[in-house]
Amino acid sequence: MIHNPSSFLCPVCHAPLLRLERSYCCPNRHSFDCSKYGYVNLLLDNAKNSKLPGDNKEMIRARKEFLEKGYYFPLVQALQKEVSGALKEVEHPVLLDAGCGEGYYTYHLSEALRQQGACPEVFGVDISKFALQRAGRRLQQAQLAVASVFHLPLAGNSIHALVNLFAPCCPGEFHRVLREDGHLFLVIPDREHLWELKTQVYEHPYPNEVKPYDLDGFTLAGVQKVASRITLENPQDIGNLFSMTPYSYRTSQQDVQRLRELTALHTKIQFQILHYVPQRKA
Ligand SMILES: [Zn+2]
Repeated sequence: MIHNPSSFLCPVCHAPLLRLERSYCCPNRHSFDCSKYGYVNLLLDNAKNSKLPGDNKEMIRARKEFLEKGYYFPLVQALQKEVSGALKEVEHPVLLDAGCGEGYYTYHLSEALRQQGACPEVFGVDISKFALQRAGRRLQQAQLAVASVFHLPLAGNSIHALVNLFAPCCPGEFHRVLREDGHLFLVIPDREHLWELKTQVYEHPYPNEVKPYDLDGFTLAGVQKVASRITLENPQDIGNLFSMTPYSYRTSQQDVQRLRELTALHTKIQFQILHYVPQRKA
């Protein structure tokens, strides 16, 4: 029987949770069972009922299929280098992927830390239970919870590195859970990310807006740009990529039809990895 203290907090009374074999419980006897996929649901009932939150099953499937073909591997490698570099002196780094989705980047980051001889403790949080069903299969060592990045169920000052990829960002919560010597890595799309995909769909495509880098409570420590080109050679991959983008919500049927007729797509991919360190806590 395992009885390990966890950095997860009880969503009811905010006391630290103990990790048992198939559940978590707090000293006040609030108890949360792990699903058969290995994640725990730390959303309270009132939040659960606010219609199905987060990415749906079909979006998760599309993203998993697309990512596993390695199209974004240049980003994986650059991020692995940044995160392992920042944590190279830390023997037992605690990593949090806030908005971890189906765990693709979480997995590759924990592998990179292991490869440099560290013994990482890995947490993943996402609002979509469908995402965590996938993540649970891939990340059997990690602790995964359905929760909001705006109310992270994690103890303050507990995290060495927090990664946040294409997910909602909550600087206040990130600052609270990070240690003073911790690191925050935000990944955002750069100006011409997927430019050629956009030119296929829109008559007048606009480049992505890259917002100013200021983030409350943090100092920018570095910006790493990742740029590459990918070729998608079948309509299935093109469709999967499109459904991962925000454009899929606001594109007319007619434009989507144009995309469906494509048999190949050659496009730029461009990301920025923003590395922040927390400013001193008050
Ligand atoms: Zn409790």
